[in-house]
Amino acid sequence: MVRKVARRFGLTVHPPPPHPERVSIDPQRPASPRLKLRVSPVAETCVRQGHPWVYSDSVRDQSRPGAAGELAVLYDRKDRFLAVGLLDPDSPIRVRILHAGKPTTIDEAFWQQRLVAARDRRSGLFDNDSTGHRWIHGESDGWPGLVLDRYDSTGVLKIYTASWLPHLAAIVPRMIEVFALERLVLRTSRNIESLAAKGPWANQAIVHGSPISDPIVFRESGLAFEADVLRGQKTGFFLDQRENRRWVESVARGRRVLNAFSFSGGFSLYAARGGAKAVTDLDLSAHALASARRNFALNTSIPTVRETAREGIQADAFEWLGEKRRDAYDLVILDPPSLAKRESERAGAVQAYQRLAVAGCHQLAEGGILVAASCSAHVSASEFFEAVLRGARSCGLEAVELRRAQHPADHPASFPEAEYLKCVALQLRIKR
Ligand code: SAH
Repeated sequence: MVRKVARRFGLTVHPPPPHPERVSIDPQRPASPRLKLRVSPVAETCVRQGHPWVYSDSVRDQSRPGAAGELAVLYDRKDRFLAVGLLDPDSPIRVRILHAGKPTTIDEAFWQQRLVAARDRRSGLFDNDSTGHRWIHGESDGWPGLVLDRYDSTGVLKIYTASWLPHLAAIVPRMIEVFALERLVLRTSRNIESLAAKGPWANQAIVHGSPISDPIVFRESGLAFEADVLRGQKTGFFLDQRENRRWVESVARGRRVLNAFSFSGGFSLYAARGGAKAVTDLDLSAHALASARRNFALNTSIPTVRETAREGIQADAFEWLGEKRRDAYDLVILDPPSLAKRESERAGAVQAYQRLAVAGCHQLAEGGILVAASCSAHVSASEFFEAVLRGARSCGLEAVELRRAQHPADHPASFPEAEYLKCVALQLRIKR
């Protein structure tokens, strides 16, 4: 009987619940009948191919309303199990898929196995020189809408959907153990902050370990950095740029570097260690610039860093760069925030990247290098690379492409919408 009902729901029931047709995922909440969904044929194909999102407008049939975080079971046209995921009734993404294919049970063993898988796929990637990196990267690690970053022995868990809230009690103790965390800080995205504040999983809660008042200091490629894990952007640092920073270090010797949209000065410090003559951090945020200054000070025991002149400029980079031609830098880095938050902003963003590349080229001396990055998921890698090249060529410059890069191994991208990061480096000479 248990098995038969379970098969109907596409789940292997383990251990057998007393009322299998009324399986509850939250012991605090009264059991309610399993939530069943059918989706459009196109969505069905996407899910079968591994896509992790089901949009509300592709839901054809839902057995009943449901609360954020309830397990939703998807069935195909022939009434066979398709997938199981987390319901988010208030989001355009109605279901975030946890598992597709053969029926499975979502229980504590399932979470444990997913945590271990995320840890193990990163084994060997980082030594003690890099104590800051990403442990869990959302959908592409099987954890849709959830991120876990490491800063030394502190973990920062960031959730982007309310559907994780009812599961955190089961997941957090396992997370602490699997990743050997001495402290765990919870961050929630702004859209769910007030909802989360009503329960035990509020934004900035220290869910494990001692309280903190100062930023956490960690290492990246042997450099020391601070991360404001409670209030900083993302989880406190842009861990995804590590490999692009390493590349910048490799070409920085003797160069005057402009780091536009510098945040806490990550690129500048790598450039300084690589022997840059001078680095300029440019950011709108006084907070970010103060952090950049402290990060520089943390590393002055490194002779090349000590010998690099450093300055910070607080300004709107779009205005500052567009103001005038300076021809004063040998390496310009452009790493703006996302310029396309939604699909409708894509075309405008591509134009903005091109204009930004032009403004960056105007800062460069002959033979200088332009490093341009984009974190807009809505702009494809080829669109971005083409926009930067077009910008450089429109300045009458010959562009030699030195490097193209996308995602580092700790930020995997398993489906097209996850491919947000791209970076291109061009060496530019006046066309003769
Ligand atoms: N390159 C950084 C990350 C950049 S994140 C790193 O390696 O860590 C984007 C940064 O752009 C943020 O610090 C934000 O404060 C800044 N920013 C956003 N709008 C800006 C603007 N109009 N002018 C200058 N900086 C801006």
